[in-house]
Amino acid sequence: MQLFKNQTLKVSNSLTGKKEVFKPIKEGYIGMYVCGPTVYSNVHLGNCRTFMSFDMIFRYFRHLGYKVRYVRNITDAGHLENDADDGEDKIAKKAKLEQLEPMEVVQRYTVDFHETLQKFNFLPPSIEPTATGHIIEQIEIIKEILEKGFAYERNGSVYFDVVKFNETHDYGKLSGRKLEDMIANTRDLAAQDEKRNPQDFALWKKAEAQHIMRWPSPWGDGFPGWHLECTAMSTKYLGENFDIHGGGMDLKFPHHECEIAQAEASNGHSPVNYWLHANMLTLNGKKMSKSTDNNIYPNEIFSGDNNILSKAYAPSVVRFFMLQAHYTSILDLSDDALLASEKGYYRLMDGLKSLADVPTSPTTDFDIKAWQQRCYDAMNDDFNTPILISHLFEAIKHINLIKGGKESISENDKALLQRIFKDFVFEVLGLENPQQSDNNSETLSGVVQLLIQLRNNARANKDFATSDKIRDELAAMGVQLKDGKEGTTFSIN
Ligand SMILES: [Zn+2]
Repeated sequence: MQLFKNQTLKVSNSLTGKKEVFKPIKEGYIGMYVCGPTVYSNVHLGNCRTFMSFDMIFRYFRHLGYKVRYVRNITDAGHLENDADDGEDKIAKKAKLEQLEPMEVVQRYTVDFHETLQKFNFLPPSIEPTATGHIIEQIEIIKEILEKGFAYERNGSVYFDVVKFNETHDYGKLSGRKLEDMIANTRDLAAQDEKRNPQDFALWKKAEAQHIMRWPSPWGDGFPGWHLECTAMSTKYLGENFDIHGGGMDLKFPHHECEIAQAEASNGHSPVNYWLHANMLTLNGKKMSKSTDNNIYPNEIFSGDNNILSKAYAPSVVRFFMLQAHYTSILDLSDDALLASEKGYYRLMDGLKSLADVPTSPTTDFDIKAWQQRCYDAMNDDFNTPILISHLFEAIKHINLIKGGKESISENDKALLQRIFKDFVFEVLGLENPQQSDNNSETLSGVVQLLIQLRNNARANKDFATSDKIRDELAAMGVQLKDGKEGTTFSIN
């Protein structure tokens, strides 16, 4: 199915500030790079929203028939505190606090990141490279930038010369800033600053004696600046010019601006055709922050273990909640919003279940092809998932009318509708059907109740050999029976 030939897709390009028709460099193929997590703490929900937006985009491109190489990195080299060049390495700092090796911290939080994303049903990226695995490539880029005259060395560190670069290029074009304004708004920094201009950023930092994460380089032992790894890994796996670069809105400046500068300085190419930025997630109307209490972790939502929540929510419900907003809009999370999404999610799933059972007729009262194109139109308009979801509910309304005998559907159209639903709900939106696991646990519970009843009968007949056997063998399988005043209950380990 080569659908992409018939669908014109528009995306919001941060570089031009416009919604543009998407045209890949090579027809049928897409290269997409998304800035991944810094693995020095548990992934927070705001980051999950960003990665979910790009998971949905990845899924939609694949659904359209594109071959997508999706690269999402792991920042494990640590970057500098508050993005200030004289700060302490974040990963090394955490390691000292917890008395762990830096790579132990990296391993722990990489595992947490993958586990969380799996619960949300994310597709794994095509390549997930690490910064520490690409130190050589980063050093090579620094050499090229030095050779082209856009960087300088000071005491074992190398800095990108933003002022020099801006003479022939446009530093600030992505974030809509002007270097002159940035300079005008900067107060004089301390005299010991090694940089020529306060706007210059580190490509390589000399490692002081106590610094744990360090690598040899032509400029002495040190570590790369944070912006560099994404330039190195995107160039290596997607080429000097690729289709899409994504990330959170907060990365537009300085991170992505610096990526553009590094690429243009080293190879003369504008690296990316379409810059896509996902907006942030707020909590009860306020910005989420690790340093204040206004913060929530994915596992707290799945367990309900947070004061702002009245209950636990399934990962699919949270996924549905996030996709009900457009990825470029700010989304506010609250208990009420999650409750409403939970209702909507189950209404959608129930409708889907009803569809399987509705009777068919010789004719159909509902133009399914036109409805399908409206679903595509929504996604083709900069991945408008809230509009797509509203179209899905429109179809649910028809399903309920058919179920109530007020409308009809033919057998072929019913099969078509089921397939389209499957495409959009499970493949594109990546939602999961709760029915399967509910059914399994319901069945298991029924079986255990039956065994409890048989054990009670055995005990009433003083057949203790049988009653003990039932209890012990269930225990061996991890099912604990507990006898209380109200009868026997069970728990599963
Ligand atoms: Zn990045």
